[in-house]
Amino acid sequence: MSVKGFDIAIAGGGVIGLALARALAGEGARIAVIDAAEAGEGAIPPASHAAAGMLAPSFEYGELPEALSKALYHFGARGLSLWGEYAAALEEETGLSIDYRPHGMLAIAYGENDKTPLEEQAAMVSALGGAAEMISGDAARAMEPALSDAVIAALHAPKDAQVDPRRLMKALKASLAQKGAPIFAMRLARIEKDGEGHRLVSAGGDHVEADRVVLAAGAVSGLAPQGLVYPVKGEAMAVALEDGLLTRVVRAPGAYLCPKAGGRLVIGATEEIGREDLKVEPAAVAGLQANAAKAVPPLGRAAELERWAGLRPGTPDGAPILGLDGEGRYLALGHYRNGILHAPAAAEAMAALVLGRETPVDIAPFGLGRF
Ligand SMILES: Cc1cc2nc3c(=O)[nH]c(=O)nc-3n(C[C@H](O)[C@H](O)[C@H](O)COP(=O)(O)OP(=O)(O)OC[C@H]3O[C@@H](n4cnc5c(N)ncnc54)[C@H](O)[C@@H]3O)c2cc1C
Repeated sequence: MSVKGFDIAIAGGGVIGLALARALAGEGARIAVIDAAEAGEGAIPPASHAAAGMLAPSFEYGELPEALSKALYHFGARGLSLWGEYAAALEEETGLSIDYRPHGMLAIAYGENDKTPLEEQAAMVSALGGAAEMISGDAARAMEPALSDAVIAALHAPKDAQVDPRRLMKALKASLAQKGAPIFAMRLARIEKDGEGHRLVSAGGDHVEADRVVLAAGAVSGLAPQGLVYPVKGEAMAVALEDGLLTRVVRAPGAYLCPKAGGRLVIGATEEIGREDLKVEPAAVAGLQANAAKAVPPLGRAAELERWAGLRPGTPDGAPILGLDGEGRYLALGHYRNGILHAPAAAEAMAALVLGRETPVDIAPFGLGRF
């Protein structure tokens, strides 16, 4: 196969590649996505399919150097601020629900050891302009009556939200189909310079040609700048959710609980660097369910619906890599634990960059040059 004539080719059709493709196609650019998820032998499943879908800038920006930590928080907050309209527009456009839920989040503590880091987190988020408050165990139970009596306090992040990543992926693909932007099922072996343009080539020699190229190929692509993006394995599960048991996301020590449409509760997730397999260890799943049941006791007897694993695209400092490399390729990589949260912000920023416009938020802190 040889296909030419695209303005922009995006290598990788996870949430980041698809959201960017949608943004660029919406600007009238001729877009192709090349994705290995359904490439037959050697297929690479997207992390996006495995994600829980929390949109949680109040929790997810880790222990980075201060300037990068602030930049990452603000990038996540930008993502969250876009999500409401993004979800509504995507649903309207495709007629598909993505189960966006702006119900806030509770992170619970059973004792002082859990409470102190939550207090520090709430203070940090408030200082950065976000919404986060500490509340008592009783106040948390007033919001979520199924919470255990053992909960003594909680961080309440009223603006954090969630979405269903699998529904999101389906809707993004439907949007691209409507916009006439093809997704080629192909595992790329390399990307070659071709005059002013680029040739994206599979091991068998199939190729797609485009003027510009964006790498959005997740954790194990073989295409990312050497060693800077690597897999961080996460195992998760879903159990049957009793009607009305939980309304919002609950983050407990050792598990987070995300109630979804259709009577499903996603419980996540383990974290293991350097594993590329998608095997789910029975002990990992048992641990997640036990930690979930400590927070919400009826979950101890909830029936398991599914278990799975995914590979988060990690980076050495936990922040994404956005910008250009030395060979004129655009990079939208390494969203680690926050790709779903980041997607609308990454799409608008990378679309602006690729189209030669000023980015709505400063992405310079996420450039390749920081390594
Ligand atoms: C258990 C778990 C829970 C998570 N929970 C959350 C959460 O609650 N909130 C949140 O924001 N994030 C969460 N994440 C993280 C989130 O899933 C990732 O940050 C996000 O999916 C990354 O998106 P991506 O598009 O960069 O990569 P991916 O979704 O991995 O997509 C990359 C795509 O590139 C393709 N590809 C790779 N190599 C090639 C190649 N050589 N040629 C062609 N195509 C290629 C793959 O086939 C794949 O489809 C979670 C992740 C896991 C594993």
